[in-house]
Amino acid sequence: MKTLSNNVSRRRFLQFGAYGLVAVPLAGLGWTTAAQAGMERLDPESDSAQALAYTHDAGTVDHPQFKEGSNCLNCMLYSDPNAKEWGPCAVFPGKHVAAEGWCTAWVAR
Ligand code: SF4
Repeated sequence: MKTLSNNVSRRRFLQFGAYGLVAVPLAGLGWTTAAQAGMERLDPESDSAQALAYTHDAGTVDHPQFKEGSNCLNCMLYSDPNAKEWGPCAVFPGKHVAAEGWCTAWVAR
C-alpha cells in the first residue's frame, strides 16, 4: 500500500537523480574548459611541430600536401571547433594550436 510519505520520498529521489544527470556533464565541461585554459601554445620550433611542418599561419604554407583553405579550425583533429583562435589538437596533446594554423596531419572535418 502506497503512502503519502513514500510518494514524496520517491519524488525527491527522482528529482535529485535528475539534478545529478545534469550536474555531471556540466562539471566535466567546466573541468575541460579549465584544463584547456591552462594549456600552452604549441611552439612551431619544437621537434614535434617541425616533424609535421606545423605553422601558426596556414596562409604562409608552401607545402605539397597543403590544400587551399585548409587550417586547424576545419581539421577533424582540432577537438574544440568552438575555440575560434587557439584550441586543442589530438596530434599535440597538452598544447593549443592556432585555429588559423596548419600541419601535414590535416584531415577535413
Ligand atoms: S592535426 Fe589538424 S588541428 Fe592539429 S595542428 Fe595539424 S592541421 Fe591543426
